[in-house]
Amino acid sequence: MKFKIQLITQGETGETIHELACLERDTEGLEAIGISLAEAKTLLADLQKQVVEQQIAVFLSNRQQCPHCAQAFRHKGQHPVVFRTLFGNLKIPSPRWFQCNCQPHKTRTFSPLADLFTDHCSPERLYLETKWSALVSFELAAKLLEDILPTGTHVRTTSVRNHLQRVAKRAEAELGEERFAYIEGCPRDWAALPRPPAPLSVGIDGGYVRNWNDKKTHFEVIVGKSIPEEGASKCFGLVQSYDDKPKRRLFEMLKGQGMQLNQQIVFFSDGGDTVRNLQLYLNPEAEHLLDWFHVTMRLTVLNKTAKGLPMTFEDDDKKHELREPTLKVIESIKWYLWHGNVYEALQHLESLEMDLDVAADGGNKNLVTRKLLRAVEEFHTYIANNQAFITNYGERYRQGDRISSGFVESTVNYVVAKRFAKRQQMQWSTKGAHLLLQMRTRVLNDELEQTFREWYPCFRVEHNEVLKKAA
Ligand SMILES: [Zn+2]
Repeated sequence: MKFKIQLITQGETGETIHELACLERDTEGLEAIGISLAEAKTLLADLQKQVVEQQIAVFLSNRQQCPHCAQAFRHKGQHPVVFRTLFGNLKIPSPRWFQCNCQPHKTRTFSPLADLFTDHCSPERLYLETKWSALVSFELAAKLLEDILPTGTHVRTTSVRNHLQRVAKRAEAELGEERFAYIEGCPRDWAALPRPPAPLSVGIDGGYVRNWNDKKTHFEVIVGKSIPEEGASKCFGLVQSYDDKPKRRLFEMLKGQGMQLNQQIVFFSDGGDTVRNLQLYLNPEAEHLLDWFHVTMRLTVLNKTAKGLPMTFEDDDKKHELREPTLKVIESIKWYLWHGNVYEALQHLESLEMDLDVAADGGNKNLVTRKLLRAVEEFHTYIANNQAFITNYGERYRQGDRISSGFVESTVNYVVAKRFAKRQQMQWSTKGAHLLLQMRTRVLNDELEQTFREWYPCFRVEHNEVLKKAA
């Protein structure tokens, strides 16, 4: 049997009919039932072409006369432009018209379609390209879209990257100006604010990404996650050496989560000055704590190394225990830190260093002992540098207060590592990494669709009405 598929257009001038396709079908054999993928692709591509061409024709005919004197514009010629849609890359003839002489103009000619094609890629395609390349590599995103797009549209890796950067730049342009401080008003004003909600917790962390310009170096990426007492947490990220408004970025995110200036905010970080500086000047009630997640991760590494120590070492021809006492000291250092007793923790670190020094210097030239000694010294410096930000974690924990911004995985891993994959030897420019981070956090926060809807009010509206069968 035969199926004729027609496109019937109902416009102001009446109906036009366009033959889209004619399918011939057997009715025997399972593979003959229904339309095939290849047919569906061809049909959709043809349908898209027809719809777009007719829409453009109407758009142009609505503008063919000068709005001031109603005289028809004279035509100068046309050039093709490519409009990339999910259903094919369409080559569209874009006309050039002479300006009307009834008014003064800066240019002699103009392109009427320039008002319509503010972008040469359809919003929905821009959206999908941006969304997928925020989640997986540009190459993989291009391949994925090429596979699932209804037409055999070729998707280039470089154009996916360019499109993501264009979307990111547009979003970046909407972020307000940077300021030195974001604390407004005085304590009297803050007290008059409505009773604040429960404290807001913000975890800030730093990671490293391989530098494209100098393959031996890395640059720092700062990521964070804000965790309200209720509702979903949101993450953000930036490349400090590129970003010129990091505080504004963090401030807007916190404001978006309903931060009030009389609300207590607890910042959790891994220490480090660059990371901590960002949190200053944002909120008068801010408190800064060393994230227990990072403390305990470091202690776990020390513990693991210590398990590889020899059981004993010899000094002055005498045998001394090494592994068991070391493990015990590490355990008690953890206990002191958990209770916020930095003084005792530092004392124990110092004596552990002396013991390991003797063990490493003595007859035993064990490599693990030297390695552990170096690691303990590093941890000692870390605790000493961050002692002002160590709290009584045990007490907070008992009171039900947060002691960390994440235990399942670090924010760096969630936001950076999984996309900027170290293993794949990928290299980044600071600009490229920063822009990708902006889109990646929007996708992870489930905000990208909303961004597109603000730019294109009719983006992804319910199409059920449109698809309703014409009565
Ligand atoms: Zn005119």
